[in-house]
Amino acid sequence: MITLKKGREKSLRRRHPWVFSGAIERVAGNPAAGDTVEIRDASGKPLALAAYSPKSQIRARVWTFDSSAVVDSSFLRERIRKAIELRQAFPAARHTNALRLIHGESDGLPGLVVDRYADVLVAQFLAVGVERWRDEILDLLKELSSCEAIFERSDAEVRKLEGLQPRTGFARGNRNASRCPIVEHGLNFRVDVEQGQKTGFFLDQRENRQRVRALAAGREVLDAFCYTGGFAIAAAAGGAKRVSAVDSSADAIQIAKENLAANPLPAERMEFAQADVFKHLRVLRDLGARYDLIVLDPPKFAPTAAQAKNAARAYKDINLLAFKLLAPGGLLATFSCSGGVPMDLFQSIVAGAAADADADAKIIERFGAAADHPVALEFPEGDYLKGLLVVRSA
Ligand code: SAH
Repeated sequence: MITLKKGREKSLRRRHPWVFSGAIERVAGNPAAGDTVEIRDASGKPLALAAYSPKSQIRARVWTFDSSAVVDSSFLRERIRKAIELRQAFPAARHTNALRLIHGESDGLPGLVVDRYADVLVAQFLAVGVERWRDEILDLLKELSSCEAIFERSDAEVRKLEGLQPRTGFARGNRNASRCPIVEHGLNFRVDVEQGQKTGFFLDQRENRQRVRALAAGREVLDAFCYTGGFAIAAAAGGAKRVSAVDSSADAIQIAKENLAANPLPAERMEFAQADVFKHLRVLRDLGARYDLIVLDPPKFAPTAAQAKNAARAYKDINLLAFKLLAPGGLLATFSCSGGVPMDLFQSIVAGAAADADADAKIIERFGAAADHPVALEFPEGDYLKGLLVVRSA
C-alpha cells in the first residue's frame, strides 16, 4: 500500500494515471516491481490500484480508480477487448490492415503499445506493470486479435528507467518479420518489425500522409526525414510531378525503394537520397532548388520538456531552410513528435522560421496523430504528434 503526502492526491483525483516518487509519504508491505498496490491519500482514503515501479520516478501507474476492482487476467481482457473494439469502429479500419490497437495509458494499459501489421502484432512492454502480466497479455492479444504471430519490440530506451532489460523477438508464432506487407489507403508498404524504427512503421501519420496525397497533384515534392517513404509514396500516388525523398538511414531508404516498387507508380519521377537532412537542405538551398510541397517529419528532438530548448533550435533550423526552398504558393507540412514541444511552442518556432526566411505564410490546417492513437483527456502527455500545413503567399 502507498500513502501519499498531504495534498498530493490532486492529480489522481483528476484521474491522471501517474504517481511520482516525490508525492509518496510511505510504502507499506514491501511490494515487488509490477505488484498491484493500493494508493491512498494522506487521510487513508483509497484512490486507486496501481502497478508499483520501485526504480522509476513514475513510482506507480494506475490500473483503475476503482479500489474494489481486481487486477487480473479478466481485468486485462476487458481493457484489451475495449481497445480493439474502439478501433473497429474507426473509418481507418476499412482503409488499412495496419492499426495501433493499444496506445498505453490512453487505453488504460500503462506502458503497453501494440501495433497490428496485417496478421502480425508488434508489442512493446514499456513499464514493469505490463511486464509483470506479459504472458497473460500475450495470450489475450493472440486470442482477441486472432493474430497468430506476436513480435516483441521491448527495446525502447524508456525500459531502462523502469529497470528492465531489452527484449526482442517472436513471443508467439513466427513470420518473416523483416518485411510484413501492409496496405494503407490502397498503397502497399513493407514493414520491418524486427529492425525498423519504433514498431516498424509510423502509423500515427496515416491520415496526414493521405492529406499530403490529396495536395500533391502537379507539385515538385520534397519529403525530408522520409523513413520508408510514407509521405513520398503518398505524394506520388497523388500525382506529384516529382518527388525527392531523403533520410539518413540506409535501411529505411532500402525499404522505401522496395515500397515504391510494390506500387504501380512512375518510378522515374521519384528519387531517394541517403543524407543528413540538416546538411542536405543547405546543399539544396545553395543549388537554388525550389519545391511546391515540402514535408518535414523529423525524429523526436525533445522527448521531454527538459530538451525543449535544443529541440527548438533544431526545428527552427530545418523550418527556416524549408521556407527558403518553398516556391511562392508552395505548401509546407511540418511536424513535431516531441512530447516536450507543445503545439503553441511549435507554432511560434515555425513563425520565427518564416520571419527569418522573409516568407509570408499562413496556417491552413493543423495535424495530429491518427484516431488509433487516442489521447485520454486526463493524460495530455499522450498528445505528442503535432503538425501545421502552411502556405507561402504567392
Ligand atoms: N515520415 C516518415 C517517418 C519519419 S521518422 C513516415 O511517414 O514514415 C524520422 C526519420 O528521420 C527516421 O527515418 C530517421 O532515420 C530519420 N532521421 C533522423 N535524423 C536524421 C537526420 N539528421 N537526417 C536525415 N534523416 C534523419
